[in-house]
Amino acid sequence: MNKIAIALHGGAGTILKKRITPAKEAAYKKVLKHALDVGYAALEQNKTAVEAVELSIIEMENSPLFNAGKGSVFTNKGTHEMDASIMEGKTLNAGAATLLHNIKNPVSLARLIMEKSEHVMLAGEGAMEFAKKMKCKFEPDRYFYDEFRYQQWIKIKDSEKVQLDHSVNKKIGTTGAVALDVYGNLAAGTSTGGVTNKKTGRIGDSPIIGSGTYANNKSCAISCTGNGEFFIRSVAAYDISCLMEYKGMSLNDACHEVINNKLLKLGGEGGLVGIDANGNIAVSFNSEGMYRAYKQSGKSAVTAIYKE
Ligand code: ASP
Repeated sequence: MNKIAIALHGGAGTILKKRITPAKEAAYKKVLKHALDVGYAALEQNKTAVEAVELSIIEMENSPLFNAGKGSVFTNKGTHEMDASIMEGKTLNAGAATLLHNIKNPVSLARLIMEKSEHVMLAGEGAMEFAKKMKCKFEPDRYFYDEFRYQQWIKIKDSEKVQLDHSVNKKIGTTGAVALDVYGNLAAGTSTGGVTNKKTGRIGDSPIIGSGTYANNKSCAISCTGNGEFFIRSVAAYDISCLMEYKGMSLNDACHEVINNKLLKLGGEGGLVGIDANGNIAVSFNSEGMYRAYKQSGKSAVTAIYKE
């Protein structure tokens, strides 16, 4: 059988072992492992990398532990605005949705935009209208409410501060997945609630093709997490692809260059998961930790949180 592989992240940030209870750690690992198993099983059943990426991200969107879908962070007006994107490495087709509310699974809407519309990116009410037409599942505001994230917002709501959902004692984080399917095709997807207390209308890197998400069979598939503004400014995901395609760098070296050199120099914190056409996986982050899980055919599954 051809190689298959999948890697996920659930956010990067100041994640220190001493600050996380064993019960919390186990809870995160359980959802990550389940999301990984769902995506990997899809690949084993000869489903496409796009399908596997969507299925894995849905599992994380449905868990309030992660800042995507249910449990998304709050804007400066106490609302939710979610972003998601997905990309297929074979065709360079892509779909993205931003400024969403009440959509249960933003990543599925991103996929529908990719597959059923003439566009790459839809925002706000137009995106919601399309979602209704496509019969996407909607949920009431209370479904997305999470007490912990509400308290996070209450603490800073009267300031101009924004906060990554990524620091000590905070629930974490943005979700993403990359996969290689049995046909040799790559895909990447990312889904997030953004950053706490962001101005309404703020769009981060997650729905921006080339910044938070990118996939190209010639190079790699990448999903990022961290301070979105820095990932946008460094066009992070596409930069990794370019370093591989035009400079012949390995996946690992290219990820290292962008995360630990370029991004750090700008002052950006975060990480990513990446995969190449040979099924090599990279997990790179310049923060204390990143929730992550991966599995390659013939190897055991790995779930990890902290720096090794
Ligand atoms: N990158 C996301 C954003 O800026 C946040 C995150 O990864 O937690 O919206």
